[in-house]
Amino acid sequence: MKKFLILNLILILALSLSSCRRSVPFKYVEGKVNVVATTTMIGDLLSEIGKEHVSVTTVMNVGVDPHSFIPRPSVTRAISKADLVVTNGLNLEAKMGKVLHVLDDKLLELGSFVPEESLIKDENGEIDPHFWFDVNLWTIAAEALTNRLILMDEENELDYLNNFNKYKEKLILLDEYIKEEVLLIEEEKRVLITAHDAFSYFGKAYGFNVLSIQGISTESEASAKDIKDLANLIVDNNVKAIYLESSIPETTIKSLIDAVKVMGHNVIIGGTLYSDSLGEEGSGAENYLDMVRHNIDTIIGGLK
Ligand SMILES: [Zn+2]
Repeated sequence: MKKFLILNLILILALSLSSCRRSVPFKYVEGKVNVVATTTMIGDLLSEIGKEHVSVTTVMNVGVDPHSFIPRPSVTRAISKADLVVTNGLNLEAKMGKVLHVLDDKLLELGSFVPEESLIKDENGEIDPHFWFDVNLWTIAAEALTNRLILMDEENELDYLNNFNKYKEKLILLDEYIKEEVLLIEEEKRVLITAHDAFSYFGKAYGFNVLSIQGISTESEASAKDIKDLANLIVDNNVKAIYLESSIPETTIKSLIDAVKVMGHNVIIGGTLYSDSLGEEGSGAENYLDMVRHNIDTIIGGLK
């Protein structure tokens, strides 16, 4: 009987291990540029610029937190087989350093193309990696990616340029859309409070005061004092709504709401923003353009 129980336990353990360790199949296609992307935003950008000439393998699934992502052996294998590996850089993929730093010229870090004067640093001098929320900076990254694909696959230069120019037009329209939407909120009410600090570039580009419970990485824990300070600020500024993030657990934002309640003020959850990952199928945030649009609509909707 005891033996039977142990066997059963082993079986259950084996089954649960195999379901959570989903491997990343590397889509190698002969005759195409075979690229590995880290984040879902980068995977999307590669599809937009490369279209039929590239095969993209995105190693982070939807909803995965890139700050804490540890590459499994299948990810390491995909990276070693790829023609090109495109990352965000600026220490976003903090736990992938060992795997990435041996790649030399096979590695393209999009963050390295952000002009020095546009980089945002925290009080410790650490660079904020979330530059994709400034649409103009993402356009710079798109151009750098286009140039690299042309270098690797000159034959299809015109297609890459054409794809980039078409996509750039959409990015310009998106940038204009955000600026118009922001005007719907009175200046002093342009306060964005989220779980972790993913929206500083957004705030700088579009005129929002951005505050968060955690810092620019999700690796550090929020302290009780951080929550108390932020609760005070919400009450003092009569902030109406704060926001969840799709790749961050809800607990920190909930404890902030509780702290505000204790002080006799009410703040609502304005919705969920997509910060470090695109949304799942059917979310309306499956690609970069829709993700940014979803975020701005959610932010404006909660603060109006
Ligand atoms: Zn982040």
